[in-house]
Amino acid sequence: MATLLDGKKLSQKICSTLKSKVEKLKDKKPGLAVILVGDHSASQIYVAKKEKTAREFGFYSEVHKLPSACEEKEILNLIKYLNESPKIHGILVQLPLPAHIQTHAILNAVSPLKDVDGFHPLNLGRLFIGDPLFIPCTPQGVMELFKEYKIELSGKHAVVIGRSLIVGKPLAHLLLGQNATVTICHSKTKNLEAVCQTADILISAIGKPLFIKNSFVKEGAVVVDVGINRLNNKIVGDVDFENVQKKASFITPVPGGVGPMTIALLLQNTFKSFERFSS
Ligand code: NDP
Repeated sequence: MATLLDGKKLSQKICSTLKSKVEKLKDKKPGLAVILVGDHSASQIYVAKKEKTAREFGFYSEVHKLPSACEEKEILNLIKYLNESPKIHGILVQLPLPAHIQTHAILNAVSPLKDVDGFHPLNLGRLFIGDPLFIPCTPQGVMELFKEYKIELSGKHAVVIGRSLIVGKPLAHLLLGQNATVTICHSKTKNLEAVCQTADILISAIGKPLFIKNSFVKEGAVVVDVGINRLNNKIVGDVDFENVQKKASFITPVPGGVGPMTIALLLQNTFKSFERFSS
């Protein structure tokens, strides 16, 4: 039976360390602003969770909600205000944005110095040249789990399923930086199951409930499930956890795996930004 990569426990450890640092601060607190456009139900839940966790660990937090019909200009004006606000050290635009808004234009408007999600082209570029300022939180959270559980990456074959800018691409790059041999798969990949069977480290970021079956997994592989999906009113990952855990050496649960790590790394990035602004 696989050992759990316990993201809940590790995220609490990271957040508690941050809390004790925040408590020592005299007047100013690290500030996080979240922009939520529209009434996407999953986004509302994610934003509420981010705000609650930020406050719980002593951060200053602002949530700006805009109606789905709002114009791009309104969002850009808000970002301009937050870029200049001395109370705010991290700005997060919750994705997805409504279809009439150009996501790239919005993400490009966030100051790279407050881009705690690491989605600004400058931050993605810095990550790719090996001089990162902010690393996207979910991939960073996965790497922290590997570190905590002393999972050797060098020389291992890592298969990442999913090539989004938020998860798959930056994660593949981070794995490469740790000397893994990386294969990135996507919806046009041929023989996905056979490719997955060659993985020492298998990471799924697809968004399809229980898609990764036992037969995809090599005996003793490390399996990371980034997916968050709703199935019969329950949150499940991309991985058929019940069966795959019998074959894997390590596995992340959903919930309680990568999800809480994403929030912990968001706070950690905000704290780093606060320190940079304060120095
Ligand atoms: P996207 O929809 O942007 O990307 C999904 C990727 O999966 C695409 O590259 C797509 O390929 C690929 N894909 C889809 N179907 C298949 C298939 N049948 N076989 C192989 N590849 C496939 O999603 P995100 O990267 O934003 O998110 C992925 C999942 O992770 C979602 O469930 C999301 O909710 C979750 N998530 C979880 C987070 C956390 O904190 N745990 C944070 C962020 C996301 P193609 O490019 O060809 O279309």
